[in-house]
Amino acid sequence: MGWLIAHKSLHTNSRLKGFGMNVDGMCFLCGQIKETQEHLFFECAFSRRVIQALMEISGLNLPDSDVLHWCIHNTDLTLQRRVKNAMVLSAMYQVWQQRNKSRIEQLVLRPSRIALLITDDMKRRIKERDKRKLTAHELEWLGRLKFM
Ligand SMILES: [Zn+2]
Repeated sequence: MGWLIAHKSLHTNSRLKGFGMNVDGMCFLCGQIKETQEHLFFECAFSRRVIQALMEISGLNLPDSDVLHWCIHNTDLTLQRRVKNAMVLSAMYQVWQQRNKSRIEQLVLRPSRIALLITDDMKRRIKERDKRKLTAHELEWLGRLKFM
């Protein structure tokens, strides 16, 4: 997913329009702005609300702009950073899913609901981890996460 976005190869509305398809080129999620990948993942009010909700539920500080740059240029491999990265990528994936769903059903999940799905999934993934491989500091950090 991150790779597809990085190479600007998702078929966003304005891109399809470039191919001569019959779409109005507007964002399916906010209906306000021309849909480009930059808009969808970094500027759209809907994706921003997803990230905001995620920060509220998790108590973590996540980037709310230039999200993709933040994910790709991630050389910090601490547990904290990997958890944040996974959450941001899930958020982008969910935004893309909702965007595709809204094309057909004109109905999307609320950002707070999406944030809950992401944290529930994260919780499950953390629980499945082999705790013996974690340091005391990492375990303490996980224990402090609001959704755990
Ligand atoms: Zn939008």
